[in-house]
Amino acid sequence: MNLIDIHTHTRQPESDHIQLVNLFPGGDARLPEQGWYTAGQHPWHITLENRQAALDWVKECASQDRVLAIGETGLDKTTAVPWELQEAVFTDHIRLAEALRKPLIIHCVQAYSEMLAFRKKSDLRLPWIFHWFNSGEQTARELIRKNCYLSYGVSLFRPGSKAFRAFSSLPASNLFMETDDAGYSIPEVYEKAAAMRDISLESWSQIMADNFRQCFGREV
Ligand SMILES: [Zn+2]
Repeated sequence: MNLIDIHTHTRQPESDHIQLVNLFPGGDARLPEQGWYTAGQHPWHITLENRQAALDWVKECASQDRVLAIGETGLDKTTAVPWELQEAVFTDHIRLAEALRKPLIIHCVQAYSEMLAFRKKSDLRLPWIFHWFNSGEQTARELIRKNCYLSYGVSLFRPGSKAFRAFSSLPASNLFMETDDAGYSIPEVYEKAAAMRDISLESWSQIMADNFRQCFGREV
């Protein structure tokens, strides 16, 4: 069974699973020989000086067919990077995603209401995927209504978290699974999710594959 890992930073070359490996700007924008990727500037890494070069790199990288999404990119209230700069770079990435017709992979920390405002104020067609979703059920449902997907990984192993408490009641049609190099393998994440939803591993991975097709408009 090929499981889809919607967000990781390290490709496991011997794995049969489908991994969307995140690339950050820098170096050669041509892709490695194999695999599926996403490309974007992380809010932690933005400076006034690197913004334009990073965007140029992301554009070049993301125009390739094996780059399936733009990101991770987003908004983070806990970093020292100025808020206006984060919003400007995030806006660049939204525009690029729309132009290339690829979904966005989003990093969001303590900024869900701002994200919803961004999503509502413009007429965006492409889905957004909130990786490491870490908010509660109400936010989750609002995002889902706005054609967003929520990706779960390590929070499935943290029973105290808001994201954990929301997981079992959210519509399966807008969920994804990820490792994000956070200490759990993709089979462990799927097994945990399937157990929490009281569904077989096979059925759960089928739903995730359907979601992938729906979100990305393609097979991998
Ligand atoms: Zn990550």
